[in-house]
Amino acid sequence: MSIVTLQLPEVKERETSRPQKCPSCGGETFQRWGGTVREVRDPRIQKVVVYRYRCCTCGHTFRHYPPGISQASQTDRMQALAAIGWIFGMSYRLGARYLSGFGVRLGRMSIWRDVQARAQVLERERHWKPVRVLGVDGAYVRGWGETQPVLVAVDMGCGEPVTVGYVDEKDPQAVRKFLEPLVQRLGVSVIVSDDLQSYRKVAGQLDLEQQVCQFHLRRWVGKVLHELKETIPAEWLWVLEETKTLVKELPLHGDRRLLELWRQIPETRQGRSGSELSPLDQLRNLLVRLAEHWAHYRVFDWQPDVPWTNNPTEQVIGKMKMRARTVRGYNTWSGMASGLMTAGVGVA
Ligand SMILES: [Zn+2]
Repeated sequence: MSIVTLQLPEVKERETSRPQKCPSCGGETFQRWGGTVREVRDPRIQKVVVYRYRCCTCGHTFRHYPPGISQASQTDRMQALAAIGWIFGMSYRLGARYLSGFGVRLGRMSIWRDVQARAQVLERERHWKPVRVLGVDGAYVRGWGETQPVLVAVDMGCGEPVTVGYVDEKDPQAVRKFLEPLVQRLGVSVIVSDDLQSYRKVAGQLDLEQQVCQFHLRRWVGKVLHELKETIPAEWLWVLEETKTLVKELPLHGDRRLLELWRQIPETRQGRSGSELSPLDQLRNLLVRLAEHWAHYRVFDWQPDVPWTNNPTEQVIGKMKMRARTVRGYNTWSGMASGLMTAGVGVA
Protein backbone atom coordinates (compact mmCIF):
# COMPACT_ATOMS: atom_id res chain seq x y z
CA MET A 1 0.00 0.00 0.00
CA SER A 2 1.22 3.49 -0.78
CA ILE A 3 1.81 6.09 1.90
CA VAL A 4 -1.33 8.01 2.77
CA THR A 5 -1.56 11.44 4.30
CA LEU A 6 -4.63 12.10 6.34
CA GLN A 7 -5.95 15.55 5.73
CA LEU A 8 -8.86 15.99 8.02
CA PRO A 9 -11.16 18.98 7.74
CA GLU A 10 -10.37 21.78 10.18
CA VAL A 11 -12.84 22.27 13.01
CA LYS A 12 -13.11 25.34 15.26
CA GLU A 13 -15.11 25.87 18.43
CA ARG A 14 -15.97 29.44 17.50
CA GLU A 15 -16.40 31.33 14.30
CA THR A 16 -13.20 32.76 12.88
CA SER A 17 -14.84 35.38 10.68
CA ARG A 18 -18.11 37.29 10.46
CA PRO A 19 -20.59 36.37 7.75
CA GLN A 20 -19.83 37.87 4.34
CA LYS A 21 -23.20 37.93 2.63
CA CYS A 22 -26.79 37.51 3.68
CA PRO A 23 -28.02 34.17 2.28
CA SER A 24 -31.37 35.79 1.56
CA CYS A 25 -30.63 39.17 -0.06
CA GLY A 26 -26.84 39.37 -0.38
CA GLY A 27 -26.64 42.28 2.07
CA GLU A 28 -23.29 42.83 3.77
CA THR A 29 -24.07 44.40 7.14
CA PHE A 30 -25.27 42.38 10.12
CA GLN A 31 -26.08 42.53 13.79
CA ARG A 32 -25.23 39.61 16.05
CA TRP A 33 -28.56 38.17 17.16
CA GLY A 34 -27.58 35.88 20.03
CA GLY A 35 -25.68 32.62 20.15
CA THR A 36 -26.06 29.07 21.44
CA VAL A 37 -23.69 26.45 22.75
CA ARG A 38 -24.13 23.17 20.90
CA GLU A 39 -22.80 19.73 21.63
CA VAL A 40 -21.02 18.07 18.72
CA ARG A 41 -19.50 14.67 18.10
CA ASP A 42 -15.83 15.07 17.36
CA PRO A 43 -12.58 13.44 18.56
CA ARG A 44 -11.21 16.69 20.04
CA ILE A 45 -13.99 19.07 20.98
CA GLN A 46 -17.33 18.59 22.65
CA LYS A 47 -18.98 21.98 22.34
CA VAL A 48 -19.14 24.77 19.82
CA VAL A 49 -20.67 28.23 19.85
CA VAL A 50 -22.99 29.05 16.99
CA TYR A 51 -24.09 32.68 16.57
CA ARG A 52 -27.14 33.96 14.84
CA TYR A 53 -26.98 37.12 12.78
CA ARG A 54 -29.63 39.48 11.55
CA CYS A 55 -29.27 41.12 8.15
CA CYS A 56 -29.54 44.92 8.42
CA THR A 57 -30.90 45.12 4.89
CA CYS A 58 -33.74 42.59 4.86
CA GLY A 59 -34.10 41.53 8.50
CA HIS A 60 -33.49 37.85 7.76
CA THR A 61 -31.83 35.94 10.62
CA PHE A 62 -29.51 32.99 10.07
CA ARG A 63 -26.91 30.80 11.81
CA HIS A 64 -23.26 31.34 11.05
CA TYR A 65 -21.27 28.15 11.70
CA PRO A 66 -17.62 27.90 12.79
CA PRO A 67 -15.30 26.10 10.32
CA GLY A 68 -16.01 22.34 10.10
CA ILE A 69 -19.46 22.68 11.73
CA SER A 70 -22.84 22.28 10.07
CA GLN A 71 -26.38 21.40 11.11
CA ALA A 72 -25.21 17.78 11.58
CA SER A 73 -24.32 16.63 15.07
CA GLN A 74 -21.01 15.25 13.79
CA THR A 75 -18.30 17.68 12.79
CA ASP A 76 -16.81 17.47 9.29
CA ARG A 77 -13.70 15.91 10.86
CA MET A 78 -15.81 13.20 12.48
CA GLN A 79 -17.60 12.44 9.22
CA ALA A 80 -14.28 12.15 7.45
CA LEU A 81 -12.91 9.77 10.12
CA ALA A 82 -15.96 7.55 9.86
CA ALA A 83 -15.67 7.51 6.06
CA ILE A 84 -11.95 6.68 6.26
CA GLY A 85 -12.63 3.65 8.47
CA TRP A 86 -15.20 2.52 5.96
CA ILE A 87 -12.86 3.08 3.00
CA PHE A 88 -10.25 0.89 4.70
CA GLY A 89 -12.79 -1.91 4.67
CA MET A 90 -13.88 -1.97 8.30
CA SER A 91 -17.14 -3.62 9.15
CA TYR A 92 -19.58 -1.41 11.00
CA ARG A 93 -18.76 -3.14 14.26
CA LEU A 94 -15.02 -2.66 13.75
CA GLY A 95 -15.67 0.88 12.53
CA ALA A 96 -17.56 1.68 15.71
CA ARG A 97 -14.68 0.32 17.78
CA TYR A 98 -12.13 2.27 15.76
CA LEU A 99 -14.11 5.48 16.30
CA SER A 100 -14.44 4.77 20.02
CA GLY A 101 -10.63 5.07 20.04
CA PHE A 102 -11.24 8.74 19.29
CA GLY A 103 -13.64 8.96 22.17
CA VAL A 104 -16.76 8.96 20.03
CA ARG A 105 -19.57 6.44 19.84
CA LEU A 106 -21.31 6.12 16.52
CA GLY A 107 -23.90 3.58 15.51
CA ARG A 108 -24.09 1.70 12.24
CA MET A 109 -26.53 4.12 10.66
CA SER A 110 -24.47 7.16 11.69
CA ILE A 111 -21.40 5.70 10.04
CA TRP A 112 -23.32 4.96 6.87
CA ARG A 113 -24.75 8.50 6.87
CA ASP A 114 -21.23 9.88 7.28
CA VAL A 115 -20.07 7.92 4.25
CA GLN A 116 -22.97 9.39 2.29
CA ALA A 117 -22.33 12.91 3.57
CA ARG A 118 -18.67 12.56 2.65
CA ALA A 119 -19.64 11.52 -0.89
CA GLN A 120 -21.86 14.58 -1.18
CA VAL A 121 -19.02 16.85 -0.09
CA LEU A 122 -16.76 15.19 -2.66
CA GLU A 123 -19.34 15.51 -5.44
CA ARG A 124 -19.91 19.15 -4.55
CA GLU A 125 -16.18 19.82 -4.64
CA ARG A 126 -16.01 18.04 -8.00
CA HIS A 127 -19.11 19.70 -9.33
CA TRP A 128 -17.58 22.86 -10.75
CA LYS A 129 -13.94 21.90 -10.90
CA PRO A 130 -13.06 21.90 -14.58
CA VAL A 131 -11.91 18.57 -16.02
CA ARG A 132 -10.18 18.63 -19.40
CA VAL A 133 -9.32 14.95 -19.74
CA LEU A 134 -11.89 12.45 -18.47
CA GLY A 135 -11.25 8.72 -18.14
CA VAL A 136 -14.35 6.52 -18.55
CA ASP A 137 -14.64 2.80 -18.04
CA GLY A 138 -17.36 0.29 -17.35
CA ALA A 139 -17.32 -2.19 -14.52
CA TYR A 140 -19.54 -4.68 -12.79
CA VAL A 141 -19.97 -4.30 -9.07
CA ARG A 142 -21.99 -6.43 -6.71
CA GLY A 143 -24.95 -4.35 -5.73
CA TRP A 144 -28.15 -5.19 -3.96
CA GLY A 145 -28.63 -8.85 -4.77
CA GLU A 146 -27.13 -8.95 -8.24
CA THR A 147 -24.22 -7.61 -10.21
CA GLN A 148 -24.75 -4.14 -11.64
CA PRO A 149 -23.09 -2.54 -14.66
CA VAL A 150 -21.70 0.86 -13.75
CA LEU A 151 -19.82 3.54 -15.63
CA VAL A 152 -17.09 5.40 -13.78
CA ALA A 153 -15.74 8.82 -14.78
CA VAL A 154 -12.34 9.88 -13.48
CA ASP A 155 -10.53 13.21 -13.64
CA MET A 156 -7.27 12.22 -15.35
CA GLY A 157 -5.62 15.32 -13.90
CA CYS A 158 -5.87 14.25 -10.25
CA GLY A 159 -6.89 10.58 -10.68
CA GLU A 160 -10.06 10.96 -8.61
CA PRO A 161 -13.60 9.89 -9.48
CA VAL A 162 -15.95 12.55 -10.80
CA THR A 163 -19.09 10.45 -10.73
CA VAL A 164 -20.50 6.93 -11.04
CA GLY A 165 -23.47 6.08 -13.22
CA TYR A 166 -25.79 3.11 -13.39
CA VAL A 167 -25.01 2.68 -17.08
CA ASP A 168 -24.04 -0.13 -19.45
CA GLU A 169 -20.97 1.03 -21.37
CA LYS A 170 -22.00 -0.90 -24.50
CA ASP A 171 -25.16 1.19 -24.94
CA PRO A 172 -24.25 4.37 -26.90
CA GLN A 173 -27.46 6.20 -25.94
CA ALA A 174 -26.93 5.55 -22.23
CA VAL A 175 -23.26 6.53 -22.49
CA ARG A 176 -24.23 9.78 -24.18
CA LYS A 177 -26.83 10.58 -21.54
CA PHE A 178 -24.17 10.01 -18.89
CA LEU A 179 -21.38 11.99 -20.60
CA GLU A 180 -23.18 14.96 -22.11
CA PRO A 181 -23.93 16.85 -18.86
CA LEU A 182 -20.38 16.18 -17.61
CA VAL A 183 -18.91 17.53 -20.83
CA GLN A 184 -21.04 20.67 -20.63
CA ARG A 185 -20.55 21.31 -16.93
CA LEU A 186 -16.87 20.46 -16.57
CA GLY A 187 -15.58 21.50 -19.98
CA VAL A 188 -14.23 18.06 -20.90
CA SER A 189 -12.48 17.99 -24.27
CA VAL A 190 -10.78 14.57 -24.29
CA ILE A 191 -11.98 11.16 -23.11
CA VAL A 192 -9.76 8.16 -22.45
CA SER A 193 -11.58 4.87 -22.92
CA ASP A 194 -11.55 1.35 -24.33
CA ASP A 195 -11.88 0.77 -28.05
CA LEU A 196 -15.64 0.15 -27.87
CA GLN A 197 -17.92 1.40 -30.60
CA SER A 198 -20.18 3.14 -28.07
CA TYR A 199 -17.41 5.47 -26.89
CA ARG A 200 -16.26 6.28 -30.41
CA LYS A 201 -19.79 7.11 -31.46
CA VAL A 202 -20.48 9.38 -28.47
CA ALA A 203 -17.07 11.08 -28.74
CA GLY A 204 -17.99 11.95 -32.33
CA GLN A 205 -21.45 13.24 -31.37
CA LEU A 206 -20.13 15.40 -28.52
CA ASP A 207 -17.11 16.63 -30.49
CA LEU A 208 -14.56 15.14 -28.09
CA GLU A 209 -11.07 13.86 -28.78
CA GLN A 210 -10.82 10.20 -27.85
CA GLN A 211 -7.69 8.46 -26.66
CA VAL A 212 -8.03 4.70 -26.75
CA CYS A 213 -6.32 2.97 -23.85
CA GLN A 214 -3.19 1.35 -25.30
CA PHE A 215 -3.33 -1.62 -22.96
CA HIS A 216 -6.81 -2.38 -24.20
CA LEU A 217 -5.81 -1.88 -27.84
CA ARG A 218 -2.77 -4.16 -27.58
CA ARG A 219 -4.84 -6.78 -25.81
CA TRP A 220 -7.53 -7.14 -28.45
CA VAL A 221 -5.22 -6.71 -31.45
CA GLY A 222 -2.82 -9.24 -29.94
CA LYS A 223 -5.66 -11.73 -29.62
CA VAL A 224 -6.78 -11.30 -33.24
CA LEU A 225 -3.21 -11.58 -34.55
CA HIS A 226 -2.61 -14.68 -32.45
CA GLU A 227 -5.65 -16.39 -33.97
CA LEU A 228 -4.71 -15.38 -37.51
CA LYS A 229 -1.24 -16.84 -37.03
CA GLU A 230 -2.80 -20.31 -36.99
CA THR A 231 -4.98 -19.86 -40.06
CA ILE A 232 -3.26 -17.49 -42.46
CA PRO A 233 -1.06 -18.68 -45.41
CA ALA A 234 2.58 -18.66 -44.26
CA GLU A 235 3.66 -16.16 -46.95
CA TRP A 236 1.64 -13.45 -45.13
CA LEU A 237 2.93 -14.04 -41.62
CA TRP A 238 5.28 -11.05 -41.94
CA VAL A 239 2.23 -8.75 -42.16
CA LEU A 240 1.10 -9.95 -38.74
CA GLU A 241 4.53 -9.15 -37.32
CA GLU A 242 4.61 -5.70 -38.87
CA THR A 243 1.07 -4.91 -37.66
CA LYS A 244 2.05 -5.90 -34.14
CA THR A 245 5.07 -3.58 -34.27
CA LEU A 246 3.01 -0.70 -35.66
CA VAL A 247 0.46 -1.01 -32.85
CA LYS A 248 3.24 -1.15 -30.29
CA GLU A 249 5.19 1.83 -31.61
CA LEU A 250 2.29 3.93 -32.96
CA PRO A 251 4.28 5.96 -35.51
CA LEU A 252 2.69 9.18 -36.76
CA HIS A 253 1.89 7.86 -40.24
CA GLY A 254 1.24 4.28 -39.19
CA ASP A 255 -2.19 4.45 -40.80
CA ARG A 256 -0.65 4.99 -44.25
CA ARG A 257 1.55 1.95 -43.79
CA LEU A 258 -1.45 -0.12 -42.67
CA LEU A 259 -3.30 0.82 -45.86
CA GLU A 260 -0.26 -0.09 -47.97
CA LEU A 261 -0.27 -3.52 -46.36
CA TRP A 262 -3.99 -3.79 -46.91
CA ARG A 263 -3.56 -3.09 -50.65
CA GLN A 264 -0.95 -5.81 -51.01
CA ILE A 265 -3.18 -8.55 -49.67
CA PRO A 266 -5.50 -10.01 -52.31
CA GLU A 267 -9.19 -10.05 -51.55
CA THR A 268 -10.22 -13.70 -51.42
CA ARG A 269 -13.92 -13.94 -50.53
CA GLN A 270 -13.39 -17.64 -49.81
CA GLY A 271 -15.61 -18.01 -46.80
CA ARG A 272 -16.65 -21.58 -46.16
CA SER A 273 -20.17 -20.54 -45.37
CA GLY A 274 -21.49 -17.37 -46.93
CA SER A 275 -20.98 -15.23 -43.87
CA GLU A 276 -17.62 -16.45 -42.63
CA LEU A 277 -14.62 -14.45 -43.80
CA SER A 278 -11.42 -16.09 -44.98
CA PRO A 279 -8.35 -15.49 -42.76
CA LEU A 280 -6.89 -13.10 -45.34
CA ASP A 281 -10.09 -11.05 -45.44
CA GLN A 282 -10.11 -10.98 -41.66
CA LEU A 283 -6.60 -9.56 -41.79
CA ARG A 284 -7.67 -6.97 -44.37
CA ASN A 285 -10.54 -5.92 -42.11
CA LEU A 286 -8.21 -5.58 -39.16
CA LEU A 287 -5.79 -3.40 -41.13
CA VAL A 288 -8.56 -1.07 -42.32
CA ARG A 289 -10.09 -0.79 -38.87
CA LEU A 290 -6.74 0.10 -37.29
CA ALA A 291 -5.96 2.63 -40.04
CA GLU A 292 -9.36 4.31 -39.66
CA HIS A 293 -9.01 4.67 -35.90
CA TRP A 294 -5.31 5.54 -35.92
CA ALA A 295 -5.84 9.14 -34.77
CA HIS A 296 -7.68 7.88 -31.66
CA TYR A 297 -4.71 5.78 -30.61
CA ARG A 298 -2.19 8.60 -30.48
CA VAL A 299 -3.87 11.73 -29.07
CA PHE A 300 -1.39 11.47 -26.17
CA ASP A 301 1.44 12.11 -28.61
CA TRP A 302 0.44 15.71 -29.29
CA GLN A 303 -1.57 16.54 -26.15
CA PRO A 304 0.83 16.34 -23.21
CA ASP A 305 -1.80 15.98 -20.46
CA VAL A 306 -3.47 12.98 -22.11
CA PRO A 307 -2.25 9.65 -20.73
CA TRP A 308 -1.77 6.72 -23.11
CA THR A 309 -3.62 4.24 -20.92
CA ASN A 310 -6.76 4.31 -18.83
CA ASN A 311 -4.84 3.10 -15.81
CA PRO A 312 -6.00 5.82 -13.35
CA THR A 313 -9.64 4.88 -14.08
CA GLU A 314 -8.90 1.20 -13.58
CA GLN A 315 -7.29 1.99 -10.23
CA VAL A 316 -10.39 3.86 -9.07
CA ILE A 317 -12.58 0.94 -10.16
CA GLY A 318 -10.29 -1.43 -8.28
CA LYS A 319 -10.84 0.50 -5.05
CA MET A 320 -14.58 0.60 -5.63
CA LYS A 321 -14.77 -3.14 -6.27
CA MET A 322 -12.71 -3.94 -3.21
CA ARG A 323 -15.16 -2.01 -1.07
CA ALA A 324 -18.30 -3.14 -2.86
CA ARG A 325 -17.46 -6.78 -2.11
CA THR A 326 -17.75 -6.35 1.63
CA VAL A 327 -20.59 -3.88 2.03
CA ARG A 328 -24.23 -4.75 2.54
CA GLY A 329 -25.56 -1.25 2.95
CA TYR A 330 -26.75 -0.67 -0.59
CA ASN A 331 -30.52 -0.41 -0.62
CA THR A 332 -30.75 2.17 -3.36
CA TRP A 333 -28.72 3.21 -6.35
CA SER A 334 -27.93 6.59 -4.81
CA GLY A 335 -26.67 4.91 -1.63
CA MET A 336 -24.51 2.61 -3.69
CA ALA A 337 -23.23 5.43 -5.89
CA SER A 338 -22.11 7.52 -2.94
CA GLY A 339 -20.50 4.52 -1.31
CA LEU A 340 -18.59 3.81 -4.51
CA MET A 341 -17.58 7.46 -4.85
CA THR A 342 -16.19 7.57 -1.32
CA ALA A 343 -14.39 4.27 -1.83
CA GLY A 344 -12.98 5.35 -5.20
CA VAL A 345 -11.39 8.43 -3.74
CA GLY A 346 -9.50 6.42 -1.18
CA VAL A 347 -7.79 8.53 1.43
CA ALA A 348 -6.34 11.81 0.29
ZN1 LIG B 1 -30.61 40.19 3.84
